[in-house]
Amino acid sequence: MSVELPEAKILAEQMNQELKGKRVKSFQVKDCERLQRIGMMDKDLTSFNQLVDGKIESATSRGNVIRVKFDNGANLILGPEYGGEIFYNKDAANVPKFHLRVDFSDGTLLTVRLTSMGVIQALNDDELERSYVYKRDFDPTKLSPTNEEFTFERFSKRLADHNKMLKSVLVGKDAVLVGVSNSTFQDILYRARIHPKRKASELNMEEKRSLHNAIRFVFTERLRLNGKDQFRDLHGKQGSYTPAMGPNMKQQTCPQCGNKIEKLSMGGGHVYLCPNCQT
Ligand SMILES: [Zn+2]
Repeated sequence: MSVELPEAKILAEQMNQELKGKRVKSFQVKDCERLQRIGMMDKDLTSFNQLVDGKIESATSRGNVIRVKFDNGANLILGPEYGGEIFYNKDAANVPKFHLRVDFSDGTLLTVRLTSMGVIQALNDDELERSYVYKRDFDPTKLSPTNEEFTFERFSKRLADHNKMLKSVLVGKDAVLVGVSNSTFQDILYRARIHPKRKASELNMEEKRSLHNAIRFVFTERLRLNGKDQFRDLHGKQGSYTPAMGPNMKQQTCPQCGNKIEKLSMGGGHVYLCPNCQT
C-alpha cells in the first residue's frame, strides 16, 4: 500500500484529469489525533480552512510527494509514502474510511487515509518549504528518475562524487535522486546484480550502466503496471507490479541461480539479496 514515486505519479496524473477545475465546498478531518501527535498532520487543523472555496489548478508529483495546487494560493501536500489510500468518489454513498475528506461543489469528493507513516498538509504557496517531504522531493538539485534529466552521464557523475555505501547515496534525505525507498533499492540492486554494501564511487562503468538501467526499468514497469501489487489508484484499481527482490523473497531461493536469499541489516533497515548474483 506504499505510495512511492510511480504510484504518486499515477495518482497525480489521475487527479489532474478528474479534479482540475473543481471547487472545494467543505472538508472534514477525522481520527487524526495520533497522526498529529507524530507530526504526520499539523497540530492546527484550521490550516485546512484555506482549501475551502479554492479551485484546483493542478496536481503534480515529484519523488513520493503529491502537490495539489489551488487558485487561491492554497496547496494540499500528500505524501503517504509508507502506506495510504487516496480515492475519488462520484457521490457521498459508500465513502471509504478517511483522515481527510474534501467535498467539491459538484457533489464529488476526495478521501485521503494514511495507513502507515506519511504526511497530509495544507500549506500556502509561501509556506511550502515548511513541509519536510515537499522540501526533500521537490528539490530541483536532486535527480528524478522518471524525468529526462536522469541521464546516464549525470547519474554516473553524481555516483563518482560519493565515497559512501550505495544505500545512503540512493535512499533517504541525502540521496542524489528522489523516489527510491529501501524496498525499491532492493529491487533495483538485484536487477543490476550489484551487492548493496558496495560503495558508489567504486562502481566501474559497466556496473554504473547496469544500475542506471535497473532504476529506469523498475520505475517504467511500475508505471506501466499501475503501481505495486498492493497499491490502489484514485479509482480503486489495483496495481500489479511485484518486486524481483525484497521482503516478498524472504526464505525463497533466487529465480536466477537457485541460491538461498539472504537478509542483511543496513542503515536501520533490512535488505534482501542474492549473495551469488549480486557482487
Ligand atoms: Zn541468484
